[in-house]
Amino acid sequence: MYVVVKCLRCHNLVLGNTRYRTRACPHCGHRMVLRGMRALGRTDSSREAVALIQALKRKEAPES
Ligand SMILES: [Zn+2]
Repeated sequence: MYVVVKCLRCHNLVLGNTRYRTRACPHCGHRMVLRGMRALGRTDSSREAVALIQALKRKEAPES
């Protein structure tokens, strides 16, 4: 399963896979323990995960 979490250091959205215990942020390299984090979204497919992360980004930074 995929989870979308927010990086604690740089606050970018990061896509993690629950198969792995930790995930390094691709933006700043900060390593997060997925289990201890609040998931903004969960999905079973990588395609849905990408769509979800894009939707969350749009919500956070609406284009005006
Ligand atoms: Zn980061």
